Amino acid sequence: MSYSPEQGRYNEMQYRRCGNSGLMLPALSLGLWHNFGEIDDFEKCREIVHTAFDNGITHFDLANNYGPPPGAAEVTFGKILSRDLRPYRDELIISSKAGWPMWPGPYGDWGSKKYLMASLHQSLIRMGLDYVDIFYHHRPDPVTPLEETMRTLDLMVRQGKALYIGISSYSAEETKKAIDILNSLGTPLLIHQPKYSMLERWVEEKLLDVLDDNGVGCITFSSLAQGLLTNKYLNGIPLDSRAASARGNGALEADAITPSTLQKVDRLNSMAKGRGQSLAQMALAWVLKDKRITSVIIGASKSSQVIDSIECIKNPHFSTDELQQIEEILK
Ligand code: NDP
Repeated sequence: MSYSPEQGRYNEMQYRRCGNSGLMLPALSLGLWHNFGEIDDFEKCREIVHTAFDNGITHFDLANNYGPPPGAAEVTFGKILSRDLRPYRDELIISSKAGWPMWPGPYGDWGSKKYLMASLHQSLIRMGLDYVDIFYHHRPDPVTPLEETMRTLDLMVRQGKALYIGISSYSAEETKKAIDILNSLGTPLLIHQPKYSMLERWVEEKLLDVLDDNGVGCITFSSLAQGLLTNKYLNGIPLDSRAASARGNGALEADAITPSTLQKVDRLNSMAKGRGQSLAQMALAWVLKDKRITSVIIGASKSSQVIDSIECIKNPHFSTDELQQIEEILK
């Protein structure tokens, strides 16, 4: 079936400026880490992407290693682009990354110029693109000089293969160093991509201030704690859930769903109900309440989850009492 996007796709979504840049990102972006591999049903993948775009999600987040197997999510996304979204390329922000193991030998991992240039080249081929909108270094490399990695990101922009650049999971200190190097090269850091949710708060210590002070945006991942911050695990592990699928590579595993976490999730769920929201919506709204957050990348295994999650923007406010109650539950 041919695809035509919803006419009213920009009516509801909010767009936030990414740091001091000219780029606006949707409050919610869609990530393709899971559910877009070779093992996943292509029509379902297509439907999830269509649902996102139909509802104003203009940003799709990928990486070289998303699959399985690594590379497959970019191939899937490339197919959806060529079938359905090619006419809308200028309405899309597409990102990719490199930094985790991708191919054998010493040039398929971490942060060398050799690896990053080759990987971006491969990603562009898999997606059928001339350029990505954002290219990230996916994780800090303890050995490669930071100057080499940052010079490589700068080169990608100069070559027109990436419009903007980002880093992911860098500490506050590493981030400041990266910002300074990139400023000296004339290609400012656009964005940082950290893990941030009610259950994972490290960014609050220093990172968000460093980003804010330097005009760098912040886009969070696993803000639903891979599904744990929803009501889906309250009555056991559903067969079609991420925790049941044993995908490996950092995916949520059954033993992370402990009774003490479930107790907190249950109380948060009751609170969300009281606010007239699903827990997923409350968990996303909680991240987005901080104006330093540009966007939250959601994952989804079904289009109905995208629709549910997007509704978070309809009830974004928390009273002081509610925020205290959340802290009390999370203690
Ligand atoms: P989430 O925390 O949003 O988890 C997504 C999962 O939660 C879905 O697959 C689904 O689980 C469940 N879910 C989503 N919405 C709902 C809902 N409304 N109701 C009930 N359950 C729901 O994010 P991810 O961990 O998937 O990460 C999101 C994106 O962030 C990735 O795709 C990737 O782009 C990026 N990322 C970046 C990383 C980095 O190192 N930079 C690392 C990890 C992610 P189920 O499948 O069980 O249905």
